[in-house]
Amino acid sequence: MKRIAILGSTGSVGTQALEVVAAHPDLFEVEVLTANSNAALLIEQARKFKPNAIVVTDESKYKEVKDALMMLPIKVFAGQQALVDVVKWEGIDVVLGAILGFAGLRSIISAIEAGKTIALANKETLVVAGELVMKLAEEKRVNIIPVDSEHSAIFQCLIGEDLNKVEKLILTASGGPFLGRKSNYLVNVKASHALQHPNWSMGAKISIDSATLMNKGLEVIEAKWLFGMKNEQIDVIIHSQSIVHSMVQFVDGSIKSQMGLPDMKLPIQYALAFPHRIQNNYKRLDFKDFPKLTFEPPDYKTFRNLAIAKEAMFRGGNAPCVLNAANEMVVHAFLQNKVGFLEMSDMIEKTLECVTFIEHPTLDDYQNTDTEARTYAAEFIKKSQLSIY
Ligand code: NAD
Ligand code: MG
Repeated sequence: MKRIAILGSTGSVGTQALEVVAAHPDLFEVEVLTANSNAALLIEQARKFKPNAIVVTDESKYKEVKDALMMLPIKVFAGQQALVDVVKWEGIDVVLGAILGFAGLRSIISAIEAGKTIALANKETLVVAGELVMKLAEEKRVNIIPVDSEHSAIFQCLIGEDLNKVEKLILTASGGPFLGRKSNYLVNVKASHALQHPNWSMGAKISIDSATLMNKGLEVIEAKWLFGMKNEQIDVIIHSQSIVHSMVQFVDGSIKSQMGLPDMKLPIQYALAFPHRIQNNYKRLDFKDFPKLTFEPPDYKTFRNLAIAKEAMFRGGNAPCVLNAANEMVVHAFLQNKVGFLEMSDMIEKTLECVTFIEHPTLDDYQNTDTEARTYAAEFIKKSQLSIY
């Protein structure tokens, strides 16, 4: 029996993780659930899964949650510090990091410090502070099992292999809802279009990131740190069917891939159960339904975010942290129709030019960089044509 803490239990990954847990009551037990502000769903989840403790980080929701669960033996905490503290609990075996964005960083670091196994969905943690996080995990002998489908695929391909014999990683990308479109079309697209992902059902922010290809840029950086690769060792290929979840090419030219239908419950289940593989009854892939699997290079000129993210990776230091902060800001603004689709790349690029470069950042440097980048990005957003009219 594994006792699990799900950070971000009300999100897309969090709710699917609870489906996985519910399907395997003999294997998993929920120890902790956390959410930011969706009190109603958190209360419902707490009643159903009876965790030992829950955290609502939005403190204004504390009373509502506490009152609703008064009759149950569930400890209720509020605020960001509670999140950092609760992951250290003795009762927890695995921490699933499914919080969105930079906000997930400190709780993951805290869980690693406490020696917990990490199932990591929150890619921004590795984008921002990959070097620091992986070093700490090595020091504490903590396993970080990827949940992101591409990284789960690579992780599965690497089992039984020698990391030194990897030539390159090939990350597949669906291309998102605007695959094949050019700038003259993209200039007018709205959040409602961008949220219609063809293959995956995901949270709003990552859906926009998929449409701009920033998601793939973030995943390239995530892969670099997770698997200890050089920048040049990670390729991206567009594969619009999302059946091949990613590939590893070895020094003899042999390539391994992991495939399946696009369903996040598979990598979530794999990460929670690791090192075991457990049975489920989800729909199986039938190759006859996919007579054509296609592969094409990404259009870096139109989807500039992928190129900008790679540049930030090559620059190193705090550049990926700036990239992430600016991206979180502009995506939030795009979701509110305050900036245009193509403007997002310009604003991220300009923010990267403005923020002070730090070659070897500490955790505090990352915090300050994040704040500084958000301040610049907010200025650019304010000046957007869409905000003015
Ligand atoms: P989501 O927006 O659906 O859910 C985010 C969760 O984080 C919610 O439970 C929310 O309450 C919590 N949260 C948000 N801001 C917070 C804050 N400031 N403090 C504490 N908690 C906060 O997001 P999602 O789509 O589930 O994605 C979660 C993470 O997993 C992201 O890093 C994303 O990149 C990654 N991921 C998601 C998918 C997917 O299919 N959705 C796939 C791969 C990776
Ligand atoms: Mg992914």
